[in-house]
Amino acid sequence: MTKTEAFTVTEIVFSSIPVRAETHWYFVEVSDPDGITGVAEFTHGGQSLATAQTMAEMAGEIRGQPIEDEASLPVTLGLAPALLQSDRVIAAAVTGLRSAILDGQAQRAGISLREMLAGDESEVPDSVELYANINRSMLPDDSGPVDRSPEAFADMAGRAVEEGFRTIKCAPFDECRAPFDAPGLPPEAADGLARIAAVRDAIGPDATLLVDCHSRFDLESALALEPELAALGVGWFEEPVSYRDNSRDLTRITAASSMPVAGAETGYGIELFESLIADRVVDVVMPDAKYCGGVGEAVRIGRSLEASHPGSISMHSPSGPISLLASAHATAAFAGSRPLEHAISEVDWRATTIDPAEHVHDGRLYLPSGPGLGAGLNQSLISQNGRRWTI
Ligand SMILES: [Mg+2]
Repeated sequence: MTKTEAFTVTEIVFSSIPVRAETHWYFVEVSDPDGITGVAEFTHGGQSLATAQTMAEMAGEIRGQPIEDEASLPVTLGLAPALLQSDRVIAAAVTGLRSAILDGQAQRAGISLREMLAGDESEVPDSVELYANINRSMLPDDSGPVDRSPEAFADMAGRAVEEGFRTIKCAPFDECRAPFDAPGLPPEAADGLARIAAVRDAIGPDATLLVDCHSRFDLESALALEPELAALGVGWFEEPVSYRDNSRDLTRITAASSMPVAGAETGYGIELFESLIADRVVDVVMPDAKYCGGVGEAVRIGRSLEASHPGSISMHSPSGPISLLASAHATAAFAGSRPLEHAISEVDWRATTIDPAEHVHDGRLYLPSGPGLGAGLNQSLISQNGRRWTI
């Protein structure tokens, strides 16, 4: 990392905004005595408020202390490595603080976050290729469930290709949940396979199609599903089983799969991600800027893995514009060779959540030129539709 400026947290403010049905995005802002404010997204499903509470307690412990190296925060706070692996709220809380502090440090240094993370010598790109995850656009909206027929999947994927995305991801296996009654390929997988076939037809043979299985399978059913996905030209097989609960089975599926197996979107810390690749539990790890230790940790992971196993990392980024922007700074800084996840068409006002607005064009995210992230929260949108609070 290039020159870093210490950042002293004196104020911490949380905000949230309702997005779609049950989904809210959550943000933390930390400010120093000079009024510089770093921001991070910490959306964590049903654990978002617990994460905010824990973050506020952690901020209380470091308030007024200059932080030079955000990576030392877990040690400063006395968080044992094993706790960060097992307690997702604590991991997400320290991750949010680490990322927000880094944004503040880059602003203090007057340089973009990607330049600070990459170091002095590197030429850092100012845009990052995205892949279109259509999953969140097909979850229930404020009026209830939406059409999840093969035709609806095909329509959404076709729109993404028309918008310029060259890689599409879907999560089609609604009907599946291990254990299954029948051995081999579960009959419940037929609907998901029909959705994938419809998407493949819509996007043509040249676009890459990624499939997320949300841990709905087990060893036997995943091994039976693999050739079906391969026949449909699937580009990666994401999380047939969970790396947390079932790493031994995941290792066997990865060994047997002709496609790259991807996963570990909830993991924390470089040691974990390096070991998942070294032990070939998966072929591609998916650190999430909201959980993995933050953007600085993501760059350490990305730099290590792109050097040892090129193409073995693609950040998980299914949330709002602050999380996507932070992930894009990290991906640019570690020169990621795979596209970055972007949850398209979740809500039509998404881009205006940040100021300046999110700029996605022709399948790429264009990074703003200002210091730090280069964008902050659109406070008028938050005050109109969301809420802001302190703890
Ligand atoms: Mg996933």
